[in-house]
Amino acid sequence: MNPNNFHPAELEKFSALADRWWNPDLEFRPLHQINPLRLSWIDSLASLSSKHTLDVGCGGGILTEAMARNGALASGIDLAEKPLKVAALHARQSGVPVNYRAISAEDLAQTEAAHYDVVTCMEMLEHVPQPHLVVQACADLAKPGGWVFFSTLNRNPLSWVTAIVGAEYVLRLLPRGTHDWRSFIKPAELQAWAAAPGLTLIDQRGLGYNPFTRVFRLHRFMGVGYLLAMRKTPS
Ligand code: SAH
Repeated sequence: MNPNNFHPAELEKFSALADRWWNPDLEFRPLHQINPLRLSWIDSLASLSSKHTLDVGCGGGILTEAMARNGALASGIDLAEKPLKVAALHARQSGVPVNYRAISAEDLAQTEAAHYDVVTCMEMLEHVPQPHLVVQACADLAKPGGWVFFSTLNRNPLSWVTAIVGAEYVLRLLPRGTHDWRSFIKPAELQAWAAAPGLTLIDQRGLGYNPFTRVFRLHRFMGVGYLLAMRKTPS
């Protein structure tokens, strides 16, 4: 077990913005915009109602809370304290039951292995020093036959031009310094890390953004942002 699989500066970056997490017009606008797309894709595959879900790197809880609204018995974990506080407060104010905890996926997997029907880990792996350990923990946390969903950014020249230069400098979709291109992950790398602990790829989507209409959509092209749906081998 690696107890230090996080970048303190990354957690501070997200903590500093925590108050603004639920404002759909500020820094987290892209997460608010993609949320209905990813939620309905996840729900269409894993039918969330009454399922035990765990959102790893949940931040302020945009997806976690939406899964709870869809009937899931939802939990969220993160290592940044302030976003978790914002998440818990928002859920309380909305009257949506969600259980938030400050713990790493690796540590939780020590006590809650094979506990969850659905594990999600969205837009988080590219902020972690050793993402394969998080992938392994997500697999361990899922029940046999359970679902694990990942989303992250692909690593290639196009993703540097669009996700760094375009999104952070030209369109100002994201604050400068949100991402380090070197930490982006190719789908084949993620798939290989996931295969080791027994996850099989079931479905995948690319995330597209039209800068003119400012609309996101899921499509087939996985060259920049993408999502993978995986299933753990049934026992
Ligand atoms: N998954 C959420 C938030 C994405 S922002 C969503 O898609 O809506 C990235 C989140 O990852 C932040 O909340 C940050 O605190 C968290 N994070 C970064 N490194 C982490 C780590 N090692 N363990 C847990 N969470 C981490």
